Amino acid sequence: MSKINIREWKHFINGEWLDSKEGKTISNLSQTTSEEISTIARGDEEDVRIAVDSAEKGFNKWSKLDPHIRGQKLIQYANLLRERKEIIAELETFDTGKPLKSSLRTVETAARYFEYYAGYADKILGEVIPTSGNKHAYTLREPYGIIANIMPWNSPITGVGKGVGAALAAGNSVVVKCSEFASLSTLYLAELAFESGLPAGVFNVITGFGNEAGISLTQNTKINKITFTGSVATGTNVMIEAAKRITPVTLELGGKSPNIVFEDADLNMAAKGSVKAFVSNTGQICSAGTRLLVHKSVKKEFEELLVNEIKEITVDKGEYNPDIGPIVSKPQLDKVLSYIEIGKQEGAKLLYGGDKINKTNLKNGYFVEPTIFTDVYNYMRIAQDEIFGPILSVITFDTEEEALEIANDTQYGLAAGIWTKNIDRVMRLVPKISAGNIYINEYQGTNVEVPFGGYKNSGIGRDRGIESVLNHTQLKSVITSYREF
Ligand code: NAD
Repeated sequence: MSKINIREWKHFINGEWLDSKEGKTISNLSQTTSEEISTIARGDEEDVRIAVDSAEKGFNKWSKLDPHIRGQKLIQYANLLRERKEIIAELETFDTGKPLKSSLRTVETAARYFEYYAGYADKILGEVIPTSGNKHAYTLREPYGIIANIMPWNSPITGVGKGVGAALAAGNSVVVKCSEFASLSTLYLAELAFESGLPAGVFNVITGFGNEAGISLTQNTKINKITFTGSVATGTNVMIEAAKRITPVTLELGGKSPNIVFEDADLNMAAKGSVKAFVSNTGQICSAGTRLLVHKSVKKEFEELLVNEIKEITVDKGEYNPDIGPIVSKPQLDKVLSYIEIGKQEGAKLLYGGDKINKTNLKNGYFVEPTIFTDVYNYMRIAQDEIFGPILSVITFDTEEEALEIANDTQYGLAAGIWTKNIDRVMRLVPKISAGNIYINEYQGTNVEVPFGGYKNSGIGRDRGIESVLNHTQLKSVITSYREF
């Protein structure tokens, strides 16, 4: 039976709820009222040490299980996630403001991740390698040991699914440091893992600030690998710390992804997909299509379609199941609003939205109108900087070459969309676009089976799919010499 106090959350370490050693807490505010809804533990170096020691014990038990038993346990966990989906989703909506239906969808996605990775637990194969002479050479894929998984706030439940699922399937244990803005669902998921039969210490969660708990985790010498999802700036700091101990890193960082609409596209379909691409999760998605590149000849028509689509988007408190909910925190809301001002100052034209929502029932929350800027040039800050809110920049182009040049003119390389009926054009463009994920006539469906990650400053390594399991293993080569009779 859960011992959660919904108002006072602790770390989840070694199958137990633990206060921070120093007893410090962080206030967790509601996105809809700005009032405190709970506290979370404020972890520091000592709490991290306890969590990592627990993960060491967890690893010793978990890695010794037969791989198929690990797989069975992960399936049991996936089943428990489905059984408790309402509770998990309500908790996520309470903590992050997400629409309830979106929270529910992410629980199913997380269950799918665990199921998918569970099937892989006993199929992590090595190879036999032909060599010269009387030698037998083969490779083994072994777990790293203790994985530090540092998470952002935008999608904690799927973050656990893809990161923790793959790490555990490969035989590692984990210490998750969740975002100070979204910890609750991750903590509950760790308790559920223990309840479903995973050994204590296999899945630990520590909460706190990045410059305390986060940095301590990256500096802990028992950590064998760091999986980080977050901004480029923090990812850089994480990599610097990791470099001091040659700790391997996977970095899933930000994006400013181009979504290109050609004149021959099905414009109705493209408009629907392009709105979804930048408003989903209130624009708080790393791969959001926030730079819309439209062919000059269809600009006017396409903008009308976009406005018609966006008028249908409902914004409200998560419990009322709107299309989109609030921004996750006051600092993030302020950032989004400041970029709306920057866009105006840069000379872009507001086509739709552009304000905080001040309706009586929403005015104390972090609600912002989905916003479209048009007449944007790619050198503007609203076209170059990741805003992480529902803000779209519309840029026009004349030729395919120009579209390609604009698409690639960014520090990022996470995703790109292409809307066209011309297969020749698709085949020409795909190899030339510098992005890890390309969507053709759709945008950003989550497929647990398909590897995901960034080119350029959008990151290193891949999560999702089989790649993610392999990313959580290290390769050992074994060469045996033998004598002939
Ligand atoms: P962030 O970089 O501010 O924080 C991410 C995590 O790092 C948090 O848990 C934070 O507490 C921690 N942290 C902060 N400073 C740290 C330090 N010095 N050492 C260790 N940990 C530290 O990111 P955010 O604002 O929480 O999330 C938004 C960002 O995440 C966006 O840039 C978005 O694109 C990115 N993101 C990327 C992906 C992807 O798959 N590529 C997915 C989701 C989010």
